[in-house]
Amino acid sequence: MHCSSKLQQLYNPLRWTQPPPLSSRSSLLSLSTHTFLHPSSNSPLTLHSSTSLKLHAMAKQSLPTKDYNFASSADLQFDSPLKIVEYPDPRLRAKNKPIDKFDDDLKKLVDEMFDVMYKTDGIGLSAPQVGINVQLMVFNPVGERGEGEEIVLVNPSVSKYSLKKALFNEGCLSFPGLYADVQRPDSVKIDARDIKGSRFTVTLSELPARVFQHEFDHLQGILFFERMTDEALDTIREGLQELEMKYEKSTGLPSPEKIKTRIRRKSGVGFGKS
Ligand SMILES: [Zn+2]
Repeated sequence: MHCSSKLQQLYNPLRWTQPPPLSSRSSLLSLSTHTFLHPSSNSPLTLHSSTSLKLHAMAKQSLPTKDYNFASSADLQFDSPLKIVEYPDPRLRAKNKPIDKFDDDLKKLVDEMFDVMYKTDGIGLSAPQVGINVQLMVFNPVGERGEGEEIVLVNPSVSKYSLKKALFNEGCLSFPGLYADVQRPDSVKIDARDIKGSRFTVTLSELPARVFQHEFDHLQGILFFERMTDEALDTIREGLQELEMKYEKSTGLPSPEKIKTRIRRKSGVGFGKS
């Protein structure tokens, strides 16, 4: 299959014994981060035992579970060309719905996501970063059209993280010009669907694992600065405040979040399974 053959190549250990031939520092650093799924937030509304059967039946009727959980066609609508959503836009924090329709609309969105990713020198991009709140990411660790492998992951989940961790100077297309060190597990085992809806499992290491984890965080509404130590975060604090001011000026709205009021923590690392 198209996508799985790509993944097999990506998975070939020989392919990643050397750092990938990235063409520029910016493409190396422009990883876009992704978020973790909070399984509880995906749970359908639960009615407790005291509720009568009748009420329960009514609730079922008024909450069509399929539409409630999965992305609708409207959720996948977009204006072309796609634009990168920058921090602190609330769409970076919104819940991202899983996808259950593997049709031409999805393919069109994926094509446009690759377009904008290459145009902006990125090597990975998640759907919420273009304002589409669905469980979808694309990446190509080489960051050049026609080179490397284009990977599409739909509804991804992580089944295993390596104990070995690595530090990497990350950037994010939603935080233009800001780079700082982020520690993450060196490899991850992933379950996902491809663009045709087929399930697959793959283990990624080194740069592809890094890109995946950044994008996966975006899908859970988690942003890369939340993975940083306070020391690393301090190096981009001013830049984050500038983005907040830029948002306020361009929208006329107060920034939905402020780094200044964020509680400091000891470490940006200790995260586990989703
Ligand atoms: Zn990002």
